Amino acid sequence: MDSIQISDRIKNMAASQTLAMSQKSSELRAAGVDVINLSVGEPDFNTPDHIKEAAKTAIDENYTHYPPVPGYMDLRQAIADKLKKENGVSYSASQIVVSGGAKQSLSNVIMSVINPGDEVIIPTPAWVSYVEMVKLAGGENVLVPASIEQNFKITPAQLEAAITPRTRMVMLCSPSNPSGSVYSRQELQGLVDVLVKHPHVTVLSDEIYEHINYIGGVTSMGSFPEIADRVILVNGVSKAYAMTGWRVGFMAAPVEIAKAVTKLQGQTTSGISTIAQRAALAAYAGSQQCVEDMRKAFERRRDLVVRLAREIPGLKVNCPDGAFYLFPEVSSYLGKRFGDKVIATDNDLCMYLLEEAHVATVSGSAFCLPGYIRLSYAASDEALEEALRRIADALGRLQ
Ligand code: PMP
Ligand code: GLU
Repeated sequence: MDSIQISDRIKNMAASQTLAMSQKSSELRAAGVDVINLSVGEPDFNTPDHIKEAAKTAIDENYTHYPPVPGYMDLRQAIADKLKKENGVSYSASQIVVSGGAKQSLSNVIMSVINPGDEVIIPTPAWVSYVEMVKLAGGENVLVPASIEQNFKITPAQLEAAITPRTRMVMLCSPSNPSGSVYSRQELQGLVDVLVKHPHVTVLSDEIYEHINYIGGVTSMGSFPEIADRVILVNGVSKAYAMTGWRVGFMAAPVEIAKAVTKLQGQTTSGISTIAQRAALAAYAGSQQCVEDMRKAFERRRDLVVRLAREIPGLKVNCPDGAFYLFPEVSSYLGKRFGDKVIATDNDLCMYLLEEAHVATVSGSAFCLPGYIRLSYAASDEALEEALRRIADALGRLQ
């Protein structure tokens, strides 16, 4: 209809492929198809009981009024304490803003820092939403690819080559969605040494998967004193505490950025759900045993999917050190046929796996690195075994 206009900025935005594939698999399931959904990245565990109890208490205690825009002070303080204790970084509560998930924190930061024409360096593969957030702010994405041959990690030389006078920000995600790769402290130091030479570049570090690692701990980008005054950390409760539905994330940054983000949030969404904030406080201030229990389960599943995927001929599989994704290279299957259909791209392969194997995955193209697919192994051992069996069978039928 002519009278209905959709803005150019939304027309030019790609829809989230992780959410789209998940939606598609829910629709198929509702239609009676036995789909195994390895598309969306979300812990299959329920939120731990002590966190749910805190939310129930919050309702009874009438946490039902508008909260402060950047979040309750005690929650921000608990986050500052967490950052100090777990990450060795010093932020005051006034430098922390709580938002509706790490997704909103990332989007708020990009909106608050990026001007039209500013360049944002994004190593790829990168989580689906980064480039769209940058586009929305009018920024220009500068993609720096890191294939499986370099374990999906960019080198200092690649970073150096990508920086120009117009670079405003570099976005990092370690442990990475979608590759699961984790930068060691030494590897991060290499990137920091480059950044020291370019003081106009801010770092936006997405550390949402920090606890889900299989190497005994990860390094926060905030812990390098040389650049600490221009690092913005983003994190949240979704992955570590199985709280995806509660929608709580935060950013920690220089106070000017915290103020800008608060101003933006004050004019758009306001402070986030009071009940969810009280639950997040219980998550950060309470026992951390649940985090370790879930991490152990993810590690067992990581071992399982790596072993099963390596048995499938033609897949190149790395052993991810963190997060809960496997990102195998699938190019040996591209160009093959199923009947009269050609599987030309990784998107075609994902559709084929959905339709023929009834396993939902996401293409590497959605993460700006074609030739791969992403499988989330945040699913039961039985579902993973069956999914890998079906994938092996379906790939084996391609000619
Ligand atoms: N960053 C990365 C890398 C993610 O995988 C996710 C999960 N979708 C998010 C941010 C956002 O998480 P949430 O909004 O649920 O906190
Ligand atoms: N982080 C998850 C994923 O990448 C959640 C879905 C999303 O928000 O994109 O699948």
